[in-house]
Amino acid sequence: MNHRPFEDWLLEDQRLTSDEERELQAHLRVCTSCAAIAESNLALHSTRMVSPTEGFVPRFEMRLAENRKAMRIRQIIGTTIFVLAGFALLYWFASPFIQEVMRSPADWITNVVGYFLFIVTSVQALSEVSHVFTHLLSDFISPIGWLVILFLVSGLGVVEVLSIWQFTRTPQGV
Ligand SMILES: [Zn+2]
Repeated sequence: MNHRPFEDWLLEDQRLTSDEERELQAHLRVCTSCAAIAESNLALHSTRMVSPTEGFVPRFEMRLAENRKAMRIRQIIGTTIFVLAGFALLYWFASPFIQEVMRSPADWITNVVGYFLFIVTSVQALSEVSHVFTHLLSDFISPIGWLVILFLVSGLGVVEVLSIWQFTRTPQGV
């Protein structure tokens, strides 16, 4: 049976002309599936929308605004506590240093400068040493020498893998 366009009319709940309405009623008399749709449409229409009580919207909006305000205040308080706690913690950790600095600022500054210089010079020395080392290596060992070393290392690796393989292959309990 051809349910078009009746099914579409019913599902989309279209307004129909009187001719269309007559056609639809004729179809509904012979088609149970479209009749079922029409019946459920009727049922849906008969359930009235529950309207909100008087003044519901303004009350709801007011409560929403209050909630938002409370949330913002809570956020501000939370942030303040967090920051204060952070400062307190920082002060607690740093107070020995601060006291030290306050007692003898000049000593402290020389200490810091000395430490800084120590780091800089050690980094410099390290970079120089590594520079010299790489230069020495590249001067002393020719490309062929590097190849030989590579070969030896890889050979050692192969030997090791083989020995592990053999070890795992030995049958147990013999
Ligand atoms: Zn039908």
